[in-house]
Amino acid sequence: MSPTTRNPAASVDLVGVGKRYGAAWAVEDLALHIDAGQFVSLLGPSGCGKTTTLRMVGGFELPDRGSVLIGDADMGSLPPHRRPVNTVFQSYALFPHLSVADNVAYGLTMRRVPKAQLRDRVDRALDLVRMRSFAGRRPSQLSGGQQQRVAMARALVNEPSVLLLDEPMSALDRKLREEMQVELKLLQHELGVTFVFVTHDQGEALTMSDQIAVMNQGRLEQYGTPSEVYDHPATGFVAGFIGQQNFLSGRVTGIRGDGALVQTPQGVVLATTDAPLSTGDEVQVAVRPETVQVLSGVPTAEEPNRIAATLRGVSQIGHTLQLVAETPDGTRIVAAIPRSAAPPTQLDVPVTIAWAPAAVRIFPAGPTAAPPTAP
Ligand code: ATP
Repeated sequence: MSPTTRNPAASVDLVGVGKRYGAAWAVEDLALHIDAGQFVSLLGPSGCGKTTTLRMVGGFELPDRGSVLIGDADMGSLPPHRRPVNTVFQSYALFPHLSVADNVAYGLTMRRVPKAQLRDRVDRALDLVRMRSFAGRRPSQLSGGQQQRVAMARALVNEPSVLLLDEPMSALDRKLREEMQVELKLLQHELGVTFVFVTHDQGEALTMSDQIAVMNQGRLEQYGTPSEVYDHPATGFVAGFIGQQNFLSGRVTGIRGDGALVQTPQGVVLATTDAPLSTGDEVQVAVRPETVQVLSGVPTAEEPNRIAATLRGVSQIGHTLQLVAETPDGTRIVAAIPRSAAPPTQLDVPVTIAWAPAAVRIFPAGPTAAPPTAP
């Protein structure tokens, strides 16, 4: 068992959970199983119900429907302090008039933990987040990242089986955030505690999580590993929300072997798919920029997945060139190509956009998380 966490990690189950504010359901019919010791992110746009879900696990809100289980125990209406969880809030919520050590010790003091044991546990918690040498400082004498570490220590000192984190890094600048992402993941691995992490930042979720629950309008869209949600988005919403995506709308004109032919205003798309599609279905096809090729000149033959366009923009992002091509009807298609592949870069000349059938995802026509990719 780890040095600080004497309570074993616990699983979390949300069983048909719903929460209503007035007439509106903030969370609807949510079913989710989180294995003990996993790092799970609740990811989705603002207002999709992530925080409400987290607060129901923590006991700060009670579900109107369904139940929350931690381990095998139904939490019912247990208040937060009776649950084997601790929460790190977005604001950190540190007491400004207490030292770092006293902030971390606060919960243990309330529970009348003996002094010698208390000091030992506070020291170990501060060691874990590498803040022992700051024990005597006040929160106002710390940077944002240091305050975040103290908030973590204050939660971990209680030896929770599940740690809930509500956008804990939103106040940090980008570089520090990236550093803290690595640290947090290492810490979670070291402790083996179950982490449930709320974020609207897909990069953060993809980097840190074992599993991601993508939510939209109070409902679960997909629950899977980072590569599952990125490479095999279950819905058009997930495809648009995670990573960049080119969307084209069209109609299925034929099914051949394991592929479907889709007529779009920009050209014919062939997609490898085992989705139950029929000729005439209205669909959206989605293609990631990194799977798009840009070739010089106009398409030589009327083949699927070859689209005539004009190169309108080129920008360099690290080792990648981002190319923006425009079809005759004004649709923009973005490609992300390694500089080493030396794609055409001369603007306002005809190009051919191409991709492999396996790169195409097909979804029923309908709203997606993002409009067709803009330059
Ligand atoms: P954000 O990323 O902006 O924090 P979120 O995904 O965490 O969003 P929630 O805070 O869970 O979303 O809110 C879900 C919905 O419930 C929103 O429409 C919100 O306005 C509503 N809501 C949340 N808390 C309350 C409340 N106490 N009273 C009324 N409505 C609420």
